[in-house]
Amino acid sequence: LNNGGVVIDLSALAENSIVVDGDEVTVGAGVTWRDVYPALAPHGLVFPGGECPMVSVAGLTLGGGISLLSRSLGLTIDHLLEATVVTADGSIVKVSDTLNPDLFWALRGAGASYGVTTSMKFKLTPIEANLLAGEVEFDSKSWIDAILRVTDYMANQAPRELNLQIMMRSTGGQLRITYNGPVDEGREVVEALLAGTPKHKRSLQARPYANYLSTIFGELEGQFHGYWRSAFVDEPLSEDTLALVHEHVALAPSELEFASIEFFNGAVHDQAPPDTAFVHRDRLALVGAYGNWLGETGSGEPISWARGLYEAIEPTLSNSHYQNYPSLEVEDWADGYYGANYPRLRQIKSLVDPENLFGSLQSVRPR
Ligand SMILES: Cc1cc2nc3c(=O)[nH]c(=O)nc-3n(C[C@H](O)[C@H](O)[C@H](O)COP(=O)(O)OP(=O)(O)OC[C@H]3O[C@@H](n4cnc5c(N)ncnc54)[C@H](O)[C@@H]3O)c2cc1C
Repeated sequence: LNNGGVVIDLSALAENSIVVDGDEVTVGAGVTWRDVYPALAPHGLVFPGGECPMVSVAGLTLGGGISLLSRSLGLTIDHLLEATVVTADGSIVKVSDTLNPDLFWALRGAGASYGVTTSMKFKLTPIEANLLAGEVEFDSKSWIDAILRVTDYMANQAPRELNLQIMMRSTGGQLRITYNGPVDEGREVVEALLAGTPKHKRSLQARPYANYLSTIFGELEGQFHGYWRSAFVDEPLSEDTLALVHEHVALAPSELEFASIEFFNGAVHDQAPPDTAFVHRDRLALVGAYGNWLGETGSGEPISWARGLYEAIEPTLSNSHYQNYPSLEVEDWADGYYGANYPRLRQIKSLVDPENLFGSLQSVRPR
């Protein structure tokens, strides 16, 4: 995306820079998610963000921010109160609902095109000391039936406290569940979700959210690389499409590769597409093919596997893509990432960065 461009290292803007003040937290631009949840846990507070330790708070937030709490709390940008941005002319600008509101609007979904964000202030929300969280596993023979049932429940009945991601690998199908509410209520909802599904194994437990994330974090440490293709959908995947996914995941080169469905309704829909630069508010889920590998070599098979899976199911997906999972293979990226919000984004870009200093192959263009 940035051939011949400059990369600015913001890691020095991380030290000592998670500052909690009442129900707000200010985070430096170099802070990664690894440090955020343990810092917030003693306060019994949270804001929804990434589950991967090496991703920065700023980078994830500027594109929207999908998380294990999206259905209950919305996107990360929905909790952003204020940011400090260094713009193309060298000014240091504060943005919020009242300070430079147009730039604040653009930052929440297309932020990387407008300047260097050096710090962000978020509104915090109380979280139960323990959440029902963990995985449910179906074997590779039975997961299509399970996922048909689960996706129908998520589309039509699930309370917004139920956050769910489906991961489909060569070894079977996995539901990653976080119930953001009282544990007993969570158990009842999970029973309703799983009623009528085939035999499965459960590792759901009542545990602090930060602890659950650290178990997922553990899986992802190391030299992680990926080729990811994804698109939003408005309807659950059909049985035929799931059969195609099943065929492909059976041939995945390793257990690092997976197909995923991340549910996105609930609190994400509380805002309308024009309310922030993040336009994909009315979608049901994000569906993706993830080819991953560790270290510098070994990319060939995961890439061709993920590309093959994505191309097989692409006709059933929308042309709308998550801007934080960019791909040079997305043909009409401006429409795919920003849809009807793109003209307003260009107008703001022309005022803030008319020479396109913060430009890449897929950044908002000035008019
Ligand atoms: C392993 C992994 C897991 C992920 N999980 C999630 C997830 O759960 N939810 C989700 O929503 N996304 C997720 N993402 C996507 C992630 O949000 C984007 O890749 C994001 O751009 C990463 O930001 P970064 O700063 O960590 O990465 P970098 O590569 O350092 O930055 C990516 C780009 O973001 C911009 N950027 C970053 N920081 C700033 C800043 N301070 N000011 C201006 N521009 C900036 C720049 O254009 C930069 O080129 C994941 C990505 C990975 C690799």
